[in-house]
Amino acid sequence: MTVETRQNTDAGSSFAWCSWHQGYTRTARLVRLPADQGSGAGAPGLFACAPCRYALDLVPVADQS
Ligand SMILES: [Zn+2]
Repeated sequence: MTVETRQNTDAGSSFAWCSWHQGYTRTARLVRLPADQGSGAGAPGLFACAPCRYALDLVPVADQS
C-alpha cells in the first residue's frame, strides 16, 4: 500500500467510513453527532457518503440549522 501525500482538494468532503453502506468513501460528511457528548468517550459520530445521503435523505450536520 502506497500512501500518497499529495495536496488534498477537500471540498467539504473527506475520506471516511460510511456507516450506512459499511465502506470507505471519499464523499463522507458527518451526519450524526456523537451520542453522548460531554463524557469524552463514545462514538465519534457517524459519516455518510453522497449516495447514501441522497438515498436516505440524510442531512450533514454542517448543513443543519
Ligand atoms: Zn454510503
